[in-house]
Amino acid sequence: MTKPCEACGKFTILSRYCGATVCEDCGHHNGLARCYCGWAASGGNGRDELVEMGEVIGDDEPPGVE
Ligand SMILES: [Zn+2]
Ligand SMILES: [Zn+2]
Repeated sequence: MTKPCEACGKFTILSRYCGATVCEDCGHHNGLARCYCGWAASGGNGRDELVEMGEVIGDDEPPGVE
């Protein structure tokens, strides 16, 4: 079971894409300000924000694997 959405109180699901607890209704990520799936609490692009903050986001392969 997941907690209700922190933003709107509706049901959340555990996203299989990004691993976050995501609201089914508004898309809010509980406990996060931004996410590499592209969501951000600010309404911007969370993935771009993470990259700007210096987060290294790989596409498919883990870091260091050629
Ligand atoms: Zn919500
Ligand atoms: Zn996400």
